[in-house]
Amino acid sequence: MFRKSLYWFTQDLRVNDNHALTIAQESDALLCVYIIDPRWFKAKRWQQTSMGCHRWWFVQESISDLANSLEAFGQRLNVYYGQPDEVIQKLCHTYSINHILCTRRPGSDEQATISAIHDALPSVKLELIDQYTLFDADNLPIPIEELPASFTPFRKIVEPKVIRNIVTTPQILPLMPRLFALPSIQRPDWIPAPKSSQGLFRGGETKALQHLNAYFSGELPKHYKNVRNELDGWDNSSKFSPWLNQGCLSARQVKSSLEEYELKNGSNDSTQWLYVELLWREYFQWLHFKIGSQLFQFKGAAKTAPLTSYYAERYKKWCHGQTPYPLVNACMNELKTTGYLSNRGRQIVASCLVNELSVDWRYGAAWFEHQLVDYDVAVNWGNWQYIAGVGADPRGGRHFNLEKQTSLYDSNGVYRKKWDGQAVGPLDSVDAADWPIMPPDQY
Ligand code: FAD
Repeated sequence: MFRKSLYWFTQDLRVNDNHALTIAQESDALLCVYIIDPRWFKAKRWQQTSMGCHRWWFVQESISDLANSLEAFGQRLNVYYGQPDEVIQKLCHTYSINHILCTRRPGSDEQATISAIHDALPSVKLELIDQYTLFDADNLPIPIEELPASFTPFRKIVEPKVIRNIVTTPQILPLMPRLFALPSIQRPDWIPAPKSSQGLFRGGETKALQHLNAYFSGELPKHYKNVRNELDGWDNSSKFSPWLNQGCLSARQVKSSLEEYELKNGSNDSTQWLYVELLWREYFQWLHFKIGSQLFQFKGAAKTAPLTSYYAERYKKWCHGQTPYPLVNACMNELKTTGYLSNRGRQIVASCLVNELSVDWRYGAAWFEHQLVDYDVAVNWGNWQYIAGVGADPRGGRHFNLEKQTSLYDSNGVYRKKWDGQAVGPLDSVDAADWPIMPPDQY
């Protein structure tokens, strides 16, 4: 049968180590598609839109880099606007597509879209490729339903196991000849105007590979474990996350570069720890596959209700760095300005929202979703559950002592000064009975 394939690019914006692309290469005709979904820009649960300016900027750069790479293979990336299941149905009818390829992702919204496509197009072969993760569902050493409830037992099982090798890049890709007869697609008016991000990261596979090579060409991996907790500094952690999460880089490529590095330079605690962190990412992906929409529920995977609520004023003050806690304010200012925050910074501000401000953790997760350049649904919501004590933490949540964190990680105040971390008070402008709180001399 003449195979007409549609490759729907999502969080796999690369041509190297792209298994779906190597399968697509065997087709007789191929349509490469990226779809911009209006729902990314609409406020949803917890008042936020998913896509903030930092990630949106990064995504646009990544799409344009991918379009250039595909052109070099004689292909073209067609960018469409609309709800993916509807766009894909239309394209399949227009071009008589009989085969769809895309990367399998754990998000419950993403899975609902896949089911909708499947139901609407029963005669079209829908092939989902595991390449967002290190393991495939087939070679994951435990069935998803039996995934341990916490990370350490998972790590013990998977750490010694071998992952699949990276795949070779196709030489040439088939085309979809009739496509060029179609009018080009207009940008709809709901697309936010391109707004530059003051972020540190440039999107796209080209930049991702440059960064991967730079990171592994020096001494940094040897010292990773000693410095990964620092609040600031480009070199203190790998900074792979934005590229990993848009798929400009695969987790397997990082693992493969790490292995090469260890072969040349020897392995130590730090190089091994970098792999442990990739396994954390891995764990959260499979956990999301396992628990589905429980990832977004107040009681989380552990099904325990935290003693928190929604306090609009506290939440807004937290988002905009206006709390009585200077270190938290500095972190929140950095996040809003750049779209990035160190892992330690994320832990500190998440713990503060839940423990000091008693705010429902899901509002914090939604703010991160909007702000983070490296947002990943499973990792973000999984980490928030962990800190709030409703997730994969056998110790039942984390409360970071803000004074201690300040003296450990910013004793000289350089970080607070850089990000304008000042104490702003009081936290509440009304008391529990909604009466305005006045300074004592005005009572
Ligand atoms: P490195 O320290 O160099 O780690 C290497 C890679 O390991 C990272 O790129 C990432 O893929 C993975 N990794 C590192 N730490 C974690 C972790 N705690 N959990 C899972 N994977 C990890 N990371 C995201 O990629 N997207 C998110 O949306 C996200 N939200 C978070 C929310 C909270 C509340 C917390 C506490 C952490 C969150 N993290 C998230 C995890 C972590 O903070 C970032 O992955 C890390 O800071 C990214 O910087 P890096 O690439 O330099 O990390």
